[in-house]
Formats: sequence, C-alpha cells, structure tokens
Amino acid sequence: MKRAPLAIILLVLAAVAAAWLLIRGNPPAATGTRLSSRPIPAELADAFSGERAYGHVRSILAFGPRPPASKGYENTLRFLESELAKLGWITLRQSFQLGTPRGPLTFTNLLARYGKERPDWTQSVPTIIGGHLDSKLVDDFTFLGANDGASSTGVILEIARVLAADPKAAESIELVFFDGEEAFLPNITPTDGLYGSKYYAHTISKRHSWPAMGIVLDLVGDAAHSFFYNSETPANFATAIQKSASLHGLELRPSPGPILDDHVPLQNTGLPCLHLIGDFMNMPYWHQPGDTLEVIEPQALEKTGRSTLRFLAEVAP
Ligand SMILES: [Zn+2]
Repeated sequence: MKRAPLAIILLVLAAVAAAWLLIRGNPPAATGTRLSSRPIPAELADAFSGERAYGHVRSILAFGPRPPASKGYENTLRFLESELAKLGWITLRQSFQLGTPRGPLTFTNLLARYGKERPDWTQSVPTIIGGHLDSKLVDDFTFLGANDGASSTGVILEIARVLAADPKAAESIELVFFDGEEAFLPNITPTDGLYGSKYYAHTISKRHSWPAMGIVLDLVGDAAHSFFYNSETPANFATAIQKSASLHGLELRPSPGPILDDHVPLQNTGLPCLHLIGDFMNMPYWHQPGDTLEVIEPQALEKTGRSTLRFLAEVAP
C-alpha cells in the first residue's frame, strides 16, 4: 500500500528535478584535466570487516541525532577526524552557509585524502567515495538514522582502514562525508536536501583536474532488503558492480527509476557515478523512530564494503 505511492512520488520528484536542472542549467562543466581511473588490487576487498564497520555505526549512534549544525554532528565529525588521522588520512572540513526552510544554516562536509601532509585540494585524485553523515532533522521523535546515514559512514571509515594497507591505492581515492543530504521538508526536492553534495560538486568543478568517477553509498546496513544501483550508471560500471556484488553475495538490481541522492549533483557535473542504496521504499523504519542499531547487520555492511572495493578492482579505466 505504501510502496506504489512513494515510488510514484520519487519518480515525480526526479522528473521535477530534471526539469529544474534544464531550466536552471547544470553546474559548471569540467574545465581541468580529466584523470583516468586507477584499479586497486582485488585482494583488498577481502580485508574489509563488517564487524569493524558495525562498531563504527555503534560509535556514531552514541552521539545521538546528527542533523546539520548540531552537537551530534560536530561530535561525529570529531570522531571521524580522529579515526581517519590514526589511519594516516588527512582531513579537510568544507564549511558553507546556505538558506533552508529552517533559515540559514552552516553545513560542513568532511573530505579525506591519504598520505601527503598537505594535499593539494585544488587538484583531484581519480576516485571519490562518498556518503551522507547527517541524520534527518525530526521534531516529533528521536531519529538516529542508523541505516540512513550512519551505515554508509561506518562502511567508508572501514574502507579507509583497508585502503591504508596499500598507500598507492589509498592515494587514488578521496573520501567525502556529505552534510545536509536530508531535506528539512518531508522529501528531497530540487531546493531542499543534497546541500552538501551540491556544494562539493561545485567545488570539484573548479579544480584544475577532475576525478574519473564517483561512488555514493546510502542505506547499506540492512540486507533484508535488496540493494539498487543507479540505472543510469555507465554500462561498464553496471557490469563491474554486478560481478562484484555476486562475488560477495550482495543481492543487487538496477533501480526501478531515478533516485534523488548525493550522486545526482556529482553526475550533473559530468562525473560518471555508481550509486548503491538499500530499497528504502520497503523499509518500514525509513525516516521513522525504528531506524536504530537493531536494523543494522555486520554482514550487510561487509557485503557492501567488499563489493565497493571489488568494483574498484574490476572497473575498466
Ligand atoms: Zn533519509
């Protein structure tokens, strides 16, 4: 009963977004050099631990709700900065102010690069792996966003550990934790939500060199629901993720229609992207009080992390 109307709403919202982009124009197109993708060693995938990623999700949830500009968000940023530093990653806070239905707010994306003490942020590295860190601001109840926000964050932090074992692979990847993915009104629209990814997309479009591809993860902690990849992803990305997912037991199919998420602003700059997302339309706890640690399974996080890393080994440059 719930599924069809929601799916229709999403399709309508995506159509509105597409129309809006046609009217308003896309973000600036790439002007710098386009980097080539760099495959990573396939064996790195097996080093990903779902239990470790689960531990990160638990740590993040202990900070409470994480809406933009909240204490919980700031504490989660500090936790990530500290964990990433221990693993040899250099972080950068990307803060900016934007108008929202709740008035002007300061948002903060967190970016991470491996190795060099002073990365040149005006240049890109070949691959972006991102996901949203914020949890949806809900007035009526405590919303933790275990699957919706914390799951992908935990996976990306564990990916950071795995990559650190292979500095050459790690140096080819930029990690991004987006703020403001969630809308303040009930659903993401062209003017509400995706605040962090839109801002980030704008900044990468100004760099002297351009990444080769992006991967965005969201709602990846619950394998009771199947996973979607974006149906508009390039054919070689679809082939590589299907192979990688089947190798690691992740049940995956193309999304039934466009889904508005953090990959869309990146794609709108011309960056080819892979988007992996759990079937939230069939999660009864989506944006509800039940999105807590209980819905998260280490196995789901592990399948996602391993499939993502394996994808980076499989995808042809
Ligand atoms: Zn959400």
